[in-house]
Amino acid sequence: MDLTTLNQEQLAAVRHADGPLLLLAGAGSGKTRVITFRIGYLIRQRGVLPAQLLAVTFTNKAAKEMKERVEELVGKRQCRGMIISTFHSLCVRILKEDIERLGYKKNFSIYGTADQVRLIKDLMQAVNVDGKKYDAERIQWMISDAKNRLIPPESYTVRYQDEYEYLAAEVYPKYQKALKAFNAIDFDDIIMLTVRLFREHPDVLEKYQQRFRYLMVDEYQDTNAAQYLLLRSLAGERRNLCVVGDDDQSIYGWRGADLGNILDFEKDFPGAAVIRLEQNYRSTGNILAAANAVIGNNRQRKEKALWTSGDKGRPIELVRCMDEEDEARVVMERIHAERFRHELQYREFAILYRTNVQSRAFEEQLRYENIPYVLIGGQQFFDRKEVKDAVAYLKVLVNRRDEVNLLRILNYPKRGIGETTADRLIRASAEGERPLWEVLCAAGEIEDLGEKAQEAVSGFVALMERYAQRFARTPNLADTAREFFAEIKLEDEIYRGTDDPKKARRRVENLEEVVNAMASYLEREEKPSLSGFLEKVSLLDEDRPDRDSKEKKLERDAVTLMSLHSSKGLEYPVVFMVGMEEEFLPHKNVLNQGADVEEERRLCYVGITRAQRQLVLTGAAQRKKYGQLQPRIPSRFLQEIPGELLDSQTSEGRPPASEEEQETMANNFFSGIRAMLGD
Ligand code: ATP
Ligand code: MG
Repeated sequence: MDLTTLNQEQLAAVRHADGPLLLLAGAGSGKTRVITFRIGYLIRQRGVLPAQLLAVTFTNKAAKEMKERVEELVGKRQCRGMIISTFHSLCVRILKEDIERLGYKKNFSIYGTADQVRLIKDLMQAVNVDGKKYDAERIQWMISDAKNRLIPPESYTVRYQDEYEYLAAEVYPKYQKALKAFNAIDFDDIIMLTVRLFREHPDVLEKYQQRFRYLMVDEYQDTNAAQYLLLRSLAGERRNLCVVGDDDQSIYGWRGADLGNILDFEKDFPGAAVIRLEQNYRSTGNILAAANAVIGNNRQRKEKALWTSGDKGRPIELVRCMDEEDEARVVMERIHAERFRHELQYREFAILYRTNVQSRAFEEQLRYENIPYVLIGGQQFFDRKEVKDAVAYLKVLVNRRDEVNLLRILNYPKRGIGETTADRLIRASAEGERPLWEVLCAAGEIEDLGEKAQEAVSGFVALMERYAQRFARTPNLADTAREFFAEIKLEDEIYRGTDDPKKARRRVENLEEVVNAMASYLEREEKPSLSGFLEKVSLLDEDRPDRDSKEKKLERDAVTLMSLHSSKGLEYPVVFMVGMEEEFLPHKNVLNQGADVEEERRLCYVGITRAQRQLVLTGAAQRKKYGQLQPRIPSRFLQEIPGELLDSQTSEGRPPASEEEQETMANNFFSGIRAMLGD
């Protein structure tokens, strides 16, 4: 570990003794690097045991990269027991040990958004609310928001008096009660329950305070109230809390992140040391100048002056394209050209967009040109129907009380438990106040259930029990899962479900991917278990499983596609920011609500500052919407980049439009931007 590669301020932060420390600094100034060096320093020079260190960040990818960097610094063996994880993984780990104190069982299920919405729909139906008129997702969102602000059902109050609030107030307590009955927790509970566990059971908190002597948090500007309390409790009296962040990169306000956490750090932790970093080591002068110019338009911010000792580099390219296909083609051409001219590898390119739907045109083009790529986020693999069905089976095997998933699979694939039977079973469960699973086990006692139905139910129960035992006994989960899915004939059901054989094949492949994901989980894990696998799946915030388990994704040479939000903290030599148009960036929801665009501007700043050597901005003159072409307006943020930093071009057009038409379209777009740039 070579400390001489740090500048003075970085070194001071790395060597900071005990007590609270805030590192508030702009993009690319080495904040994350300071954390990794500080961990290394504490282990190597201060004799801190790896197990006494805890570092948290926001995405799996960031956590993984940080861990790898530390391992490079001090050696893998020296890192054993050290926890570098996301907030959610950390809390699941804690809950796994002590959730019984809160009246849950250890084999709890974790509900993602889709499960949550399904449960909310059921509850709405139960109180006779018209599921067509009211949007269950909005209720889910409101409950989630309440949880992030640490408001439990009993304290939820109606403030604005709109219909949805009344509805949320009615559903929230029922929802929470149902979760508990199903021995399930949702994504927001993960943190909220951990905070509650610590508050109600000081001995549990003390155990963790004893263990974690040093806490480090990356991207602190994006913490919400619950996460703040969690950190505060863990830091305890020792207050060895080192947080790093950048107020200009706060992009999760819409999800309850509280910028006050970073701005008030010195107040919350009196005597905190504050260190600022101003030198940027990531980007060229031009890129940095563009970033500074854009973010300078925000009013609510602490002034910062980022500088670099490096070259200005090449100008920032701004390419106006005809439409989305043209835009995708332009990006491909640039990738080919840059690769050739500067001998770059595919993994040195990233394509960033505001919303995940924008990835489609690029994916198609990448596939067409045979360029390897990885897609981060998007329609998450584990959200696909066939995958959810398979996972639902596994979830029920682990937690028989998980009724959302139990109902999902009860008669899928069809096994003779029709709707009438299901209704009777559910009624018996409600009337007897017994878990549905218990009712299934005693189906023979339900009088108005026909003999055939009874047989079907007991067959199902026997099947599940048999596989639950097999999974518990065998270390080879993947093989067992393969046999299990074959026995319940999931594949046949998929083929029956659609007339399109291609679609069906893709779905079957996805099913195989679940087994593959399990196989690669087995390779990585020291003590694998079915519940451990499901936990990993629930906490995936981004990746889809590796296609080839032997090939590690990060080592693969592939172009990265992801949203601006997921790009936080990462860096790439060449970055394409695509769809630089009004309604994408700033996003139309923000514009429609007349809300503040400052968060959108910060998002733009995050995107620009991901680029190391080359930044290419693209936008289209028109885009298809429901099959019709609609004109697009260049993003206002383009206007905020000084003209002298930009090299503006049009794409050379190709069909579908005639050459003349393209010419005019491009010219219109060109003059549109020029007018906005004021030259
Ligand atoms: P972000 O705000 O985007 O998360 P950051 O402040 O965390 O950025 P890092 O990712 O830690 O910045 O560092 C940015 C780049 O600069 C990395 O490639 C890092 O290795 C490099 N870097 C940081 N400090 C130095 C230094 N003192 N000397 C050389 N390179 C450095
Ligand atoms: Mg960082």
